Amino acid sequence: MPTVKVVPSKAGNDEVLECEAICPKKVFAVKDGKLAVVDEKACDLCRACTEHLSEKGGIVVEGDDTTFMFTFETDGSLTARQALDKAVEILNSSATEFGEQIEAL
Ligand code: SF4
Repeated sequence: MPTVKVVPSKAGNDEVLECEAICPKKVFAVKDGKLAVVDEKACDLCRACTEHLSEKGGIVVEGDDTTFMFTFETDGSLTARQALDKAVEILNSSATEFGEQIEAL
């Protein structure tokens, strides 16, 4: 899960404002002359904004490795929820089997 923060004291700096156009995912918009985050979840952690600013700073992008977003589609034979439940069931079964094989060593 991405977290994107604009440092308030730098939100009006020219280099920071340029990040509205640099971001390929349209995470930012300029409001009242300052850069603001408008779609944090769209960030794909490409780092184009932070690389543009380099050591000047102004934007902090981090990935939360305890929370994940994912999307998937089905072919229609199962609902998305059924497909997710089945995937979890298969993973659980595989993990149990793996644990049993480890214990048998
Ligand atoms: S890391 Fe990439 S996608 Fe995320 S806000 Fe910066 S430029 Fe946009």
